[in-house]
Amino acid sequence: MPGFEIFGAEEKAQVMEVLDSGVLFRYEFAAQRGDVWKVLEFEKAFAAYTGATHAQAVTSGSAALKVALIALGVGAGDEVITQGFTFVATWEAILDCGAIPVFTEVDMTLNMDPVDLEKKITSKTKAIIPVHMMGAPARIEEIKALADRHNIPVLEDTAQAAGCRLKGKHLGSFGAVGTFSFDSVKTMTTGEGGMCITSDAALWQRMSEYQDHGHDHVPNPGGRGGEGRPFIGFNYRMMEIQGAIGLAQLAKLDGMVEAQQKNKQFFQEAASVLPGVEYREILDPQGDSATFFSFLLPDKERTQAVNAVLREAGVGAVSWSENGWHYYPNWEHLLEGKTPCANGWPFNAHGKRRVIYDPQALPASAALLGRTLTYQVPIKLADEQKVKIAEALKKAV
Ligand SMILES: *Cc1c(COP(=O)(O)O)cnc(C)c1O
Repeated sequence: MPGFEIFGAEEKAQVMEVLDSGVLFRYEFAAQRGDVWKVLEFEKAFAAYTGATHAQAVTSGSAALKVALIALGVGAGDEVITQGFTFVATWEAILDCGAIPVFTEVDMTLNMDPVDLEKKITSKTKAIIPVHMMGAPARIEEIKALADRHNIPVLEDTAQAAGCRLKGKHLGSFGAVGTFSFDSVKTMTTGEGGMCITSDAALWQRMSEYQDHGHDHVPNPGGRGGEGRPFIGFNYRMMEIQGAIGLAQLAKLDGMVEAQQKNKQFFQEAASVLPGVEYREILDPQGDSATFFSFLLPDKERTQAVNAVLREAGVGAVSWSENGWHYYPNWEHLLEGKTPCANGWPFNAHGKRRVIYDPQALPASAALLGRTLTYQVPIKLADEQKVKIAEALKKAV
């Protein structure tokens, strides 16, 4: 997921247009800015690229989740279902709205298991957040159909899957809203930044107003400051410089995906020498953003033994079950309810614990992730690196 690999003249030229305009802010200053509206332009380009009618830029992928949840009306007492294999931001955003995260198992897609999802829906479920982890789709069509039957909106956490399609349709455009991250390690990056996409104009309007302190975004002859306020908000406004970089990176996104798809084939062939190897289920290989390659070995012992050989050769793979940031049983701060808030919020309310998490609650995910190894697929893959990895995998046999 390496947008930082191909930073260059295009990003620089875009940023210079902003600096030359003298206006760093996305709203107002119409007279000074000489028609430079980078964030607005980036939103329009991103919406057009993904096939959504509206896009709302914000400061990060985490902010995008928060803004989308608030605009969907999620709040204290509600439950939001997501998967136990994701980056912590997904459930941080749920807790930040006052809602309670509920976790599902993942299946061979390494994303939300729709069968387990159905078991976890209650009358309190107000949103479902499948995460398209590692650049490849969750079973979004099944999840959406199930959510529709229960009348629950789907928010796709597409932070890791910009440029990924399922049957020609962009991830993030299946549910009510899709959120993206442009942080330093994502496929396309603006340093920090995020985006929400939707084809629901009313939902977009709420997101747009919420991320801008509740300023109403309707034509306003009185200028900035004179407008009304439909509700309270907060500040998650993207800067013009980020919008400018986003435009340059978006133009490169399909090229990045193409390069990754080619490099991913190398990993697939190299790993095929391992006896009993299986691969993560990719629902649509043609639409894969190919940011990661994941393979599974028959059991945890063999998985660790193989990775020990790979590590010794200096080409160790990621073992998610050992990772502290992406895997439910390792989120001890969540499980133990650690918070800086003196009264224990959001884990406690009115002196009582609101939720208790069992570290053993997701045995199927533990079994799968315990035998999964992952390589990040770079855009630029040197021949020496390929030889090193291929040799190490042969040695691991
Ligand atoms: C990176 C990421 C986020 C958060 O994005 P930031 O821009 O870093 O705040 C959210 N969800 C997932 C799955 C991510 O990988």
